[in-house]
Amino acid sequence: MQEKLKVLYNNNTLHQTLEAIKGKGKLGFVPTMGALHEGHISLINKSIIENEFTICSIFVNQKQFNSQEDFEKYPNILDVDLQKLEAVNCDFVFVPSQADIYPEGFKAKNYDLGNIENLLEGFYRPGHFQGVCIVVNRLLDLIMPSKLYLGRKDYQQCQVIQKMLHEVNLQPLIDLSLEPTIRDEFGLALSSRNLRLDEDAKQKAIILIKCLRDAKESLIQNGDYNLVQIKKNATDTILKVGFESVDYFEFVDETFHIIDNSGNSKQTVAILTAATINGIRLIDNIEILKEEYAS
Ligand code: AMP
Repeated sequence: MQEKLKVLYNNNTLHQTLEAIKGKGKLGFVPTMGALHEGHISLINKSIIENEFTICSIFVNQKQFNSQEDFEKYPNILDVDLQKLEAVNCDFVFVPSQADIYPEGFKAKNYDLGNIENLLEGFYRPGHFQGVCIVVNRLLDLIMPSKLYLGRKDYQQCQVIQKMLHEVNLQPLIDLSLEPTIRDEFGLALSSRNLRLDEDAKQKAIILIKCLRDAKESLIQNGDYNLVQIKKNATDTILKVGFESVDYFEFVDETFHIIDNSGNSKQTVAILTAATINGIRLIDNIEILKEEYAS
């Protein structure tokens, strides 16, 4: 571990730093877009426990935003982020410029992600997952960590990155660790976007996890259940609380296929939702382990 947080503002300082620690131990990597909260910090803490060195990156990747407005409104509070990283003894933070990540002549690959790219988040945010893969692949090429830490809060993103790692032959070279979603005391999944919610919206937003928990309960208690009905109840409830729209509330199996009433509901491994309140789009999910189903 380093004595003090080292801030790396460009590829040169990153390269020098990586050279200096080469052969001295494992390097854990946590990619982020900043506005750090306890969800990010949990990933960093896990990496610190499991590796000799930990590096976090802060880069707001325009390529993964489909709305210019959402990109421009994304919180940027680097000073506060650096203090948080310092407080948990993170070793390095990489804060690259656009030119470091996307130098002139940079050719973005097109990743073969299969159908997952067009479902749920992929459907509502066209191009989003290609953008995520481009930046994560680029950061991995620059950093070449031993282990990559991602949050299950972005469940579909975890699956996408797993696919990308296989496609570019970075797995098993880079070990992937998927970590649990961190929530506030009321159950709201922490997200940098929550900074834009006022107190009233924050309270209302708790309905997402409540509906996910209720849906999971119906499923594991009652077995083959009417998924269309659960979905309708959840959507109605979320709208009634004051969300302006619900993009989806869906059940997926372990190959990320959507399950409806024609499928076996006990194949559900996760329930995912995305909904918008006060113009802010939130996502959340709940997972179901096989052993949680009543036999
Ligand atoms: P972001 O800064 O939103 O791109 O997130 C960076 C990483 O932190 C991603 O792997 C996210 O899945 C993870 N993350 C974001 N929110 C949470 C949370 N509430 N709990 C756990 N991990 C999270």
